[in-house]
Amino acid sequence: MNQPMDYKALPTLATKATPEWKRYYSKNKKKLEGMDAEIHLLHHKISAKTNCLECGNCCRTLGPMITDKDIERIAKSLRKKSSEVMDLYFKVDEDGDMVFKSMPCPFLGADNYCAIYENRPKACREYPHTDRKKFYQIYNLSIKNAETCPIVYEVLEELIR
Ligand code: SF4
Ligand code: SF4
Repeated sequence: MNQPMDYKALPTLATKATPEWKRYYSKNKKKLEGMDAEIHLLHHKISAKTNCLECGNCCRTLGPMITDKDIERIAKSLRKKSSEVMDLYFKVDEDGDMVFKSMPCPFLGADNYCAIYENRPKACREYPHTDRKKFYQIYNLSIKNAETCPIVYEVLEELIR
C-alpha cells in the first residue's frame, strides 16, 4: 500500500488548503448534511490506501480522551489494577479530561504498532472520525485534524474536487 504523501509536509499542506475547505463549507453547509454516505465512501477508499504504520501521527501528537471503561479494559489486558494503570499512564488535564500523561502515547512502539491495539481506547478506535454519522458537525474540527492525519486531508481534498 503506497502512501504518496509526505507526512512532514502535512501541516503546511493543510494550512494552505484551509481557506478553500472553509469556502466549500460555507457554500455547501446544507448539502453536507445529506452527504454522509458519500463521505464514508471516501473515508473507506482513502483509508484502504493509507498505511497508518507508516504514519502514527495521531498516536504521537493527539491526546485521546480516555474513559473509565477504557482504563478498566486496558488494566484487564495488562493484568494490573485500574488504579495502577491510572497512576502509570494517565492524568486529568486542565479541562478535567482524562488523557495520557505524556505524548507520544506510551503504548506506541518504534514501529508504530500499538501495544494494546485490541484494547485501545474508544477515541483511538474512532479516529479520524471521517466515517462517523453527521460528519458535517465535525467538518471544522476535521480541518484541524487534517494537519495531523493524511486520511482527513485527502477526504477534504476529494470533497472539494
Ligand atoms: S493507545 Fe494505541 S492507538 Fe491509542 S494513541 Fe496509544 S498507540 Fe495510538
Ligand atoms: S494520523 Fe491518520 S493516517 Fe496517521 S496513523 Fe493516525 S489515523 Fe492513521
